[in-house]
Amino acid sequence: MKLQYQVIIVGGGPAGMMAAIRAAERNFSVLLIEKNDQLGRKLLITGHGKCNFTHTGDLNYFLSQYVPNGKVLREALTTFSNDDLIQYFKKSDIPSYTDEGGRFFPKTDSAQSLLDVLRRAIQKLKIKVLFSTQVIELMVKNQKIYGVRLNEGTEILGDHVVISTGGRSYPATGSSGDGYHLARSMGHTVSDAKPALVSFKLLGNIPALLEGISLPDIVLKFRMDKKFWQERGAIIFTAKGISGPAVLNLSLVTTDYFPSANPIFLHMDLVPNSTEELLNVELTNIFLTHGKAQIKTVLAEYVPMRLCEEFLRSLNIDPLQKTAQVTKKQKFLIVEKLKDWPFQILAMGPWTNAMITKGGIFEKEIDFRTGQSKLVNGLYFAGEVIGVCGKTGGFNLQMAFSTGYLVGEKIVSF
Ligand SMILES: Cc1cc2nc3c(=O)[nH]c(=O)nc-3n(C[C@H](O)[C@H](O)[C@H](O)COP(=O)(O)OP(=O)(O)OC[C@H]3O[C@@H](n4cnc5c(N)ncnc54)[C@H](O)[C@@H]3O)c2cc1C
Repeated sequence: MKLQYQVIIVGGGPAGMMAAIRAAERNFSVLLIEKNDQLGRKLLITGHGKCNFTHTGDLNYFLSQYVPNGKVLREALTTFSNDDLIQYFKKSDIPSYTDEGGRFFPKTDSAQSLLDVLRRAIQKLKIKVLFSTQVIELMVKNQKIYGVRLNEGTEILGDHVVISTGGRSYPATGSSGDGYHLARSMGHTVSDAKPALVSFKLLGNIPALLEGISLPDIVLKFRMDKKFWQERGAIIFTAKGISGPAVLNLSLVTTDYFPSANPIFLHMDLVPNSTEELLNVELTNIFLTHGKAQIKTVLAEYVPMRLCEEFLRSLNIDPLQKTAQVTKKQKFLIVEKLKDWPFQILAMGPWTNAMITKGGIFEKEIDFRTGQSKLVNGLYFAGEVIGVCGKTGGFNLQMAFSTGYLVGEKIVSF
C-alpha cells in the first residue's frame, strides 16, 4: 500500500465521503479511512432508511435551525447548498421529493440508493479506501500535520488530514467519539458531548397508560434559568416517556440540563390554536347546553379519548362526570391544564437512541471559511464532529455534506 497521500480523510460517513469526492475531483491524491467494513453505515438508517437528506428552506432558514450558532455554517451552506445536494443526486438518476414539512427524500425512498451514488463516485475517482481500519493518532510537527497512525501501527503520511469521524450517538454505527480524542490530542477544546434529537423519559405512569397515542400538533414549553423555549409539532407517548419531532427538537436544549440534581419540567399545550379565554368561553357554553354529556366526551373534541380519561384522572376529576356538575374550580383547572400540562423529565434517552451529538469541537477554534483548524496547519473538521448540530428535517445530513464539500473545495496544495 502507498504510504503517502495529499489528503487523508478519517471517517467514511456523509461528511468524509463528500470531502473525499470533492478533493479527488480537484486532483488531490486521497485516502479515505473507515473503521467499519463498509462506508456510510449511519447514513443507511437515516429517516427510517428513507433518508431525509435535506430541506426546502432558504439559507437564512437553514442557519436558524442549528445550535448553538448556525451562522458559522454560512460559508459551507453557500458553497454547497441544499439545491446543490439535490442536483448532485439528481445528476446520478436519483431525483427527490418533498413532504408537507419541506423535508427532502430520494424518490427511491432508500438511503442505500444515495450511498450507492457516493460509492460509485469514490470508485470512479479512484479514491483509495481502507476498511476496518481505525486512526488512533495524528502526527504533527511544529503545529503542522504530517500524517496519521493506524490501529495496527502503520504510519501514513499526508499533507492534509480531515477529521470526519461523526459524534458519539448510535455508537454501533462506528461514531464512538474518536474524533474528540484526536482533536484534544491536538490541543483543541471539546465541549461536553450530550445525546440530542432523543426522546425523554418522564416521571409517573401517565406515559405508559397512553403508550402509542400520538398528538399531531401540540406545543412543548421549557423554562430554565429565566429562559424560555418552545417547539410545536407532533409527539407520541412511549412506554416510559415521549418522543416525536417536537420532543426531539426540544432535546437540543433540554439535554444541556441533564443529569440534574433538581427536578426539571416540561409543559404541554394540548390546544395550541386556542387561548385560555377562548377555551373557557367554549366550555362554559357546552356545559350549559349539554349538561347531561360526560366531561370526557366533551374534551374528546380537543384531544384523543384515551388521553382525555387520563388527563381528567390526573386532575382528580371523574371522566364520567356530567358537565352540569363540573364546578367552576374544576373548569378552571381543565382549561389551565389543557394549555399547560406539566411533566417531570427524568432523563434524556440514551446514546444508543440519540440521533445526533450536541457539543464537539469548539467553534472558535475552527476557521469556518475552510473547515481548517486554527491551531494546527493542515488539520480539517467536517460533519457532526463539529460542535454545531441541527433540528430534525434534513439539516444534519445537509450540514455533513456541506462541511465535507467545503473542506474538499478549500484544501490548497503546499
Ligand atoms: C437513527 C438516525 C436517524 C437519522 N436520520 C437523519 C435524517 O433523516 N436526516 C438527517 O439530516 N440526519 C439524520 N441523522 C443524523 C445523521 O445521520 C448524522 O448527522 C450524519 O450521519 C453525520 O455524518 P458524519 O459523516 O459527520 O458522521 P457519521 O455518519 O457518524 O460517520 C462517521 C464515520 O467515521 C467513522 N469513524 C469514526 N472514528 C473513526 C476512526 N478513528 N477511524 C476511522 N473511521 C472512524 C465511523 O465508523 C463512521 O462511519 C440520523 C441519525 C440517526 C442515528
